[in-house]
Amino acid sequence: MIVHHPNELTLACYAAGTIGTGMALAVATHLTFCPTCRAASSLAEDVGGALLEDLPPAAMAPGSLERLLARTSASAIVGGDLSVPLGRRTGASLGARAGAATRSYGTGQTKSGAARADVPPVREPALPPPLNRRAFGPWRPLTFGMRMRPLLPAGCFWAGIVEGAPGRILPLHDHTGAEFTCVLSGGFSDAEGHYGPGDLVELAAGVGHRPVIDDDGPCVSFIATDGVRLHGVLGFVQRLFMR
Ligand SMILES: [Zn+2]
Repeated sequence: MIVHHPNELTLACYAAGTIGTGMALAVATHLTFCPTCRAASSLAEDVGGALLEDLPPAAMAPGSLERLLARTSASAIVGGDLSVPLGRRTGASLGARAGAATRSYGTGQTKSGAARADVPPVREPALPPPLNRRAFGPWRPLTFGMRMRPLLPAGCFWAGIVEGAPGRILPLHDHTGAEFTCVLSGGFSDAEGHYGPGDLVELAAGVGHRPVIDDDGPCVSFIATDGVRLHGVLGFVQRLFMR
């Protein structure tokens, strides 16, 4: 059972498309597990769309359309996965692009259930949507008993899949920016509680924790962070290499 959900502000920002791609993917992954938050996000989209449609028309500056098209074309080339067209309701905001893209990746279908022709193919069948349509780098060792695959491109300081061995205790660390973790399989605990498949953990900048992987199997999570600061010897090594 899912216990940990994104807070209301995060869901509203996700629906408005005002959070970055990595963080939006973490929320979108949670939504594939959580019908409650799917309904809340859909409602927020509908409310936002209704508000936009009620706004009086405003004249655009000369060249605005050309600049918008240039920016969306550039995103399609650089990101590859961000080429999904803007939705009807969210298209009025440039910031909606990340949200629209990740939402459509959830199922590859429209709301009516029809297959979308404009979503990338499944690349990672072992991962749940929307992650299964994204590009990840190869596995790399992180620390003893931990390994990771980076999301390409991350859309934030770092995003990717992290796998921890059973019983592994992660190094104590805090965050120089927000961090979203969505558990894909297995589970872990920290001082705040236990997290299982589908749970979304939101940590604000400056909040530290020391996750402990469950004893009964590995834990695989998708993590998107705006900054991590390790403590102790690993922190010294991190500062050495990041100077
Ligand atoms: Zn939820």
